[in-house]
Amino acid sequence: MLQTNQKTTIEFAQLKHLLSVNARTVLASAILAIMLAWIVIHEVPNEILFPWLSVMMLINVVRVGVCNYQIKHPTYHPQPINQRLVVFRLGLMLSSIGWGVISLMVIHYGHLDQQLFVSYMIAGLSAGAVVSYSIDRISAMTYLIFAVLPTLCGFIWVGHAISIPMALAGLVYMAFSIYSIYSYHRSLVESLLLRRQAVEREEEIKRLAFYDVLTNLPNRRLLMDRLRHALVVSNRSGKRGALLFIDLDHFKLLNDTFGHSMGDLLIMQVAERLKQCVRETDTVARFGGDEFVVMLEELSEDSAIATQEVERITSQILKQLNAPYQLSDSEYVSTPSIGVAMFGEHGMSHDELLKHADIAMYQAKKSGRNIVRMFDFDMRSDVPIKRSAH
Ligand code: GH3
Ligand code: MG
Repeated sequence: MLQTNQKTTIEFAQLKHLLSVNARTVLASAILAIMLAWIVIHEVPNEILFPWLSVMMLINVVRVGVCNYQIKHPTYHPQPINQRLVVFRLGLMLSSIGWGVISLMVIHYGHLDQQLFVSYMIAGLSAGAVVSYSIDRISAMTYLIFAVLPTLCGFIWVGHAISIPMALAGLVYMAFSIYSIYSYHRSLVESLLLRRQAVEREEEIKRLAFYDVLTNLPNRRLLMDRLRHALVVSNRSGKRGALLFIDLDHFKLLNDTFGHSMGDLLIMQVAERLKQCVRETDTVARFGGDEFVVMLEELSEDSAIATQEVERITSQILKQLNAPYQLSDSEYVSTPSIGVAMFGEHGMSHDELLKHADIAMYQAKKSGRNIVRMFDFDMRSDVPIKRSAH
């Protein structure tokens, strides 16, 4: 899986780079094709030269059109990325075959000065290709094989005193180009992967800092952040919200009887059930141990209606968390105690609000567990110091 992702990352970067250099390289290719046609117009027969020039221009136009379309409609899926790479390589192959063909024609029909000109041009084009396409070895090698190799073969075939050494020098040049393609490609891919690893590490650090490892729910720090933000929004909009402090009843007993890993299984299932009881915009956080905090936002501006909304959700939570859990091979029944603190009226701080929800939860425990208690200010005197010190 990781390998597939890595392959896609590399192919995505390759395609992005190839598309970004395409317009420049196609423009250079078109200008050089016109110059070459002009230089060899009296040597290469018109019935070869003009169809060649037309085909080259057509290939260039299609390549620019296809690449522009792909730039405007990017894809991030592995299969289309791979297909687009293949399309790019095909376009490049056609273009380099065109250069290979014309260089053979010039070597065949032209004089030494035209032959020198075409070899100079092909060398320049292929040097540009090595630099521009090395991120994708196949593209760079395609250019060398289809554009440079026929030229060298043409010089050997002509067999003049100067053309044989030119072909040999060309072979040395090609060998160096291949070496450069491989080493340039390797370092580009290495830096791509390093960048990807750095991004992944950063994401992992963020995840560890703000999310609970066991449940993947927001942790206490992220909850406090969101709560601060929710209070500001609620003050501005007038909409009410609520904080539900949920603590599982007799959770220690499960740990002590069936082991810590069974306790973990229950915590994970509770997290899933809680998420299903609220809207996407609400927050379910793991506060620590067997404690969860649910933050409901965007409730009614009317206090009575908002309270009804909270009652509906808390009774749903109570029902869901009371349903039997499948822990490994055995069924287990657990219950929660829930304390509720409403916000949106008294202009409380996030710390006070959390304390109120905690106090209400403590009252729920005290009243026999498996129930919901709404905070009211008379509850405060009835709280042991230990619980209020969060
Ligand atoms: P009460 O009804 O009063 O809530 O009693 P309780 O047994 O649930 O007691 P309490 O809520 O105080 O205990 C929570 C326990 O959760 C204490 C700790 O051993 C355990 N715990 C804390 N973190 C984890 C965890 O990540 N996994 C597991 N399995 N247990 C944990
Ligand atoms: Mg508990």
